[in-house]
Amino acid sequence: MEQKVNENIRLAVQKKGRLTDKCLDLLKLCGIEIENYSERLVVSSRTFPLDILFLRDDDIPEYVQDGVADIGIVGENVIEEKNISVGILEKLGFGKCKIMMANPEHIPLNSPLDLEGRTIATSYPRILKNYLNSEGLSAKIIELSGSVEIAPALGVADVICDIVSTGNTLMMNKLRKGFSIFESEAVLVKSANKELSMEKIILIDDLVRRIRSVLNARRSRYLMMNVPKVSLERIMELIPSLRSPTIVPLADEELVAVHAVIPSDFIWNTISILKSEGASGILLLPIENMIS
Ligand code: ATP
Ligand code: ZN
Repeated sequence: MEQKVNENIRLAVQKKGRLTDKCLDLLKLCGIEIENYSERLVVSSRTFPLDILFLRDDDIPEYVQDGVADIGIVGENVIEEKNISVGILEKLGFGKCKIMMANPEHIPLNSPLDLEGRTIATSYPRILKNYLNSEGLSAKIIELSGSVEIAPALGVADVICDIVSTGNTLMMNKLRKGFSIFESEAVLVKSANKELSMEKIILIDDLVRRIRSVLNARRSRYLMMNVPKVSLERIMELIPSLRSPTIVPLADEELVAVHAVIPSDFIWNTISILKSEGASGILLLPIENMIS
């Protein structure tokens, strides 16, 4: 076991935070299971030649860049702020957030021009500076490592630039959501500089393929419904991205069962039309994996 460690791919994952459980859930769906990870820095999977390195998210881009880890899962916001050269292998669809401007009521923030000459508190000085430069604006940046949202109330800054997902923290601090300057989600990255062995390249390809299958499945549902034969043509026109649905005859000769893979968000916009065309017994099932 010990000798094998070097051949395993090394994946850096956030040790404890918003991305941890989602990363481990994704790996599990890819058939990569680990046990008793809570206390240890490095854990090997029993089911795939992979070691997980549990790290602070801020350290992940550098570990990947330097080749200590072969690949990593981290927010795009962290990569951008650290200015580290890693290559994105896949966007993972979770950990979505925005870096946004937010302002107290008495300071208007209707357009980027309202930032001119202001003092802005942020934990993302690099992203903010790049944004201001790209807009040709000058403002004073106050860098804070946490609790940025209290800066206006303390008189430290006029407005803030911080990471937001729901906006609850802003509301609690009587700040209004302004405009977004950066959008982020968790991504799988590899070093842009370091050469990997052919064995590792093959394993990483395999992992990426598994991840894509899981993500595709997440974006899809398996739809089953009974449809009057007379409405079949119209209903088929309604169902998108469907090359060849399964159509099954039923004991009731006026009906057929239609089974199809559809985009997850499609059904809610279409359900009332399907019903008005006489569709019944509509079932929508999750798909665990969709292998292409
Ligand atoms: P660490 O201890 O690893 O440094 P952290 O406190 O910096 O953790 P978390 O708050 O766990 O980080 O967030 C990890 C990542 O989750 C962020 O870098 C970002 O990409 C993403 N994220 C999604 N929504 C939010 C949010 N509302 N606030 C902060 N980060 C978010
Ligand atoms: Zn962090």
